[in-house]
Amino acid sequence: MTFAVVPSLRLQPELAAEWLPRILSDEYDPRFVPASQKRGVLFGMALTERQGGSDVQANTTRAVPLGKSGAGEEYELNGHKWFCSAPMCDAFLTLAQTNKGLSCFLLPRLLPDGGHNGFHLQRLKDKLGNRSNASSEVEFRGAWARMVGEEGRGVPTIIEMVRHTRLDCAFGSAATMRRALAEALHHATFRHAFGKRLLDQPLMRNVLADLCLETEAATALALRLARGFDESPHDEGQRRFARLATAVGKYWITKRAVAVVAEALECLGGNGYVEESPLPRLYRDAPLNSIWEGSGNVQCLEMLRAVKKDAVTLEMVLQEIRAARGGNKHCDGFADRLERELADSTQLETRARPLPNF
Ligand SMILES: Cc1cc2nc3c(=O)[nH]c(=O)nc-3n(C[C@H](O)[C@H](O)[C@H](O)COP(=O)(O)OP(=O)(O)OC[C@H]3O[C@@H](n4cnc5c(N)ncnc54)[C@H](O)[C@@H]3O)c2cc1C
Repeated sequence: MTFAVVPSLRLQPELAAEWLPRILSDEYDPRFVPASQKRGVLFGMALTERQGGSDVQANTTRAVPLGKSGAGEEYELNGHKWFCSAPMCDAFLTLAQTNKGLSCFLLPRLLPDGGHNGFHLQRLKDKLGNRSNASSEVEFRGAWARMVGEEGRGVPTIIEMVRHTRLDCAFGSAATMRRALAEALHHATFRHAFGKRLLDQPLMRNVLADLCLETEAATALALRLARGFDESPHDEGQRRFARLATAVGKYWITKRAVAVVAEALECLGGNGYVEESPLPRLYRDAPLNSIWEGSGNVQCLEMLRAVKKDAVTLEMVLQEIRAARGGNKHCDGFADRLERELADSTQLETRARPLPNF
């Protein structure tokens, strides 16, 4: 989240000038002191409310100006956030309603004079996995914050951060697959069954080969997305590609991670299910990246929005797929079916999930 906050903060240049040097610092400074005294800072985000998770427009947290209103100005926030991970961060980007609608704010944990901000941790979540990342419920009671970006344009402002955390979800899940695969390969290399190494049993070789292929594919896709991000500022085509491909890539990689980790776990037999092995932890973690930063269906809807927005965006992605034609008949068949499916605009929303499977 600290990495991802940078493009959103840049939309408010004076806040970027104040915070970026400490965001970009590679020092971890754990002291509970105002950010201005720290050598490095960490950022979190607080969007999700009880009634407004995916549907952030339903958020009810209110922001009232303390003086002038508008971009960069000071506000007081009151409300509640149902999920706020890494609550030890120095500051958070958050959303709250003003008279002009949902707006984005930078809310520091401590006030500039060192006093406590009205940011109250109510409870830590008892989660399925991901336990070394604390996730909390927080209440804002008279919390001091400054507006980032234009008033009423909170979603377009924070979406820059969200897009970058979606890229991280794709990378995180590709890395989880790689880790699970490494454990499976290691086990199969040294474990003997029925007179041979597991690695030399034909059926096990197939399973491992599938896992290798899928892991390579996830890594290649995540890196391709990252190139789209890198080239977006000076290449409109790459920007459009990245918008659509991030929704598809985040959806696909995070979903496949669950199945890949489960299969890798099975390669270790009973030991994979036992807590002394690293697999149970990876398995509990695996579904998470698919949920946060926009769950599976939300990514599908984002894909449809990007497709419907203009024909060029879709064309950028199709061109990328067409470039691989001729190398593999299954891939060619996939490309044909995908283009046919996309040409049919009836009930696209109902069909949005199977689309990447064609
Ligand atoms: C470990 C963890 C850490 C988190 N950390 C943070 C954090 O730091 N900051 C933060 O703001 N949030 C955080 N979240 C919250 C997370 O981003 C939300 O849980 C997520 O966005 C989904 O929102 P929701 O839980 O309200 O589910 P809902 O929005 O109620 O969605 C429930 C289901 O309905 C689907 N759905 C929603 N709308 C539609 C639709 N129109 N059509 C079809 N299906 C739909 C969704 O895909 C989902 O599967 C965290 C979540 C977890 C699990």
